[in-house]
Amino acid sequence: MGKVTGFKEFERQDEAYTPVKDRVKHYKEFTVPLSEPEITKQGSRCMDCGIPFCHSGCPLGNLIPDFNHMVHQGEWQKASWLLHSTNNFPEFTGRLCPAPCEKSCVLGIIEDPVSIENIEKNIVERAFKEGWIKPQPPKTRTGKTIAVVGSGPAGLAAAQQLNRAGHTVTVFERDDEIGGLLRYGIPNFKMEKEVIDRRLAILEAEGITFKTNVNVGVNSDVKELKAFDSVVLCGGATERRSLPTPGIDADGVVQAMDFLTQQTKVLFGKDVKDQVLATDKNVIVIGGGDTGSDCVGTSNRHGAKSVVNFEIMPKPPGHRSPTTPWPYWPLQLKTSSSHQEGVERNWLINTKEFIKDKNGKLTALKTVNVEWKMVPGERPQLIEIEGTEKIWPCDLALLALGFTGPESTLADKLGIEKDARSNYKAEYGKYQTNIPNIFAAGDMRRGQSLIVWAISEGREAARQVDLYLMGKSNLPSKDMSGDLVAM
Ligand SMILES: Cc1cc2nc3c(=O)[nH]c(=O)nc-3n(C[C@H](O)[C@H](O)[C@H](O)COP(=O)(O)OP(=O)(O)OC[C@H]3O[C@@H](n4cnc5c(N)ncnc54)[C@H](O)[C@@H]3O)c2cc1C
Ligand code: SF4
Repeated sequence: MGKVTGFKEFERQDEAYTPVKDRVKHYKEFTVPLSEPEITKQGSRCMDCGIPFCHSGCPLGNLIPDFNHMVHQGEWQKASWLLHSTNNFPEFTGRLCPAPCEKSCVLGIIEDPVSIENIEKNIVERAFKEGWIKPQPPKTRTGKTIAVVGSGPAGLAAAQQLNRAGHTVTVFERDDEIGGLLRYGIPNFKMEKEVIDRRLAILEAEGITFKTNVNVGVNSDVKELKAFDSVVLCGGATERRSLPTPGIDADGVVQAMDFLTQQTKVLFGKDVKDQVLATDKNVIVIGGGDTGSDCVGTSNRHGAKSVVNFEIMPKPPGHRSPTTPWPYWPLQLKTSSSHQEGVERNWLINTKEFIKDKNGKLTALKTVNVEWKMVPGERPQLIEIEGTEKIWPCDLALLALGFTGPESTLADKLGIEKDARSNYKAEYGKYQTNIPNIFAAGDMRRGQSLIVWAISEGREAARQVDLYLMGKSNLPSKDMSGDLVAM
């Protein structure tokens, strides 16, 4: 609990953003932190509701009312200890989590919910500033060795937990830098990459070995994994979705991930040949999710002539839809900071053709308006509305359509079974694949998801690996029922 009457006295305050005209000139984060007294007030809005639904809203099971209370009391170091007891990387989630906890906050029924995500960010930033976050190498080593494949949030969380249990951990990453989608997917203006490096220095000091440019199953034989006592596969869900639309091969139709990755690489002085730039172009971003929003922000920073966004689904309502009542994740229109920087958003629109000139260069998109026909018991049907075809001048079309699932190389070469959605099959709570010493976690196991889920799965999988290797585990779990072996 914060302060008995805090929620009546104080309104929710969020971090402000620097003005659009300034922030689109750079790729740095642009939030303006709240003052310490203001954050303390925000913590006091937590209202001792009795049954904190926010706990179950958070995939990590973060102990939210307790850290809110500590912040209100000025007990920042204690709050940091508590936060880190359930979340290895609150600096990632405190910046990037969509905060399902806030959508299930009891105060949210009658008022704006407690600003949990921002409180989380403030706790961890204060902890780094004060030097409270120190490497915690294990006191003894078990002699067991573990390979983690993939260094996104799932791989990093699994590695830190397993290393803390005393195992010797090596993380293999095919990219030239550690971090997975945090590094090259999510733009620097949403999270500066120094935030990853700062945490990485802690993980290295704890004794974890990182090997970059190692693409397991491609430039490194999967047989080498046999040298390890256990393996955790955290390779993400990186198979990009495309469209079966005529003209998709036009010069100027680009996958969002290529566009975003190139920009971050250029920012850090990496060698990128023929960077795709939106400068002075009419840009159309196809796909209305987070990746699409990141493309909008990046296009505006490049200095695009115009930025348009297409989404095939209907426009969600401005307020929580009655189909998703509290405490569920709401169907509701989301306007990101990138949207605020300038974009024309269109819903219920489908691309019929990418029109190109005689040299194969993209010049325009042909679209049609659509509607969804719902028949109970059947899959929704997409219906084109006659007479609504339209031509949109376009020099750059960015495909932000999400991912169909993980790449199959590792599964094929290791003999791992996949589920009906092409994810690596490992039961939730167990994380063990059909090969007993190989585990899977994060997007590779659950499909395209969120950072908070990746950290949660990495942590839980680590505990299962520890149980498998040692027969017992002192690693924490949000759900003790997932044990492989009775303790
Ligand atoms: C553009 C974009 C924006 C996003 N924004 C948000 C957001 O704001 N908030 C949020 O919560 N989520 C966001 N997400 C989703 C989030 O980034 C992912 O859910 C999360 O990163 C998944 O973590 P992971 O560790 O499972 O996999 P990943 O982060 O995908 O990491 C997997 C890693 O494994 C490596 N790898 C794969 N195969 C091999 C191999 N054979 N050998 C070696 N290495 C291998 C890959 O190179 C990669 O580095 C976003 C995603 C994208 C694409
Ligand atoms: S990790 Fe996400 S869901 Fe969990 S407390 Fe933080 S913001 Fe909320």
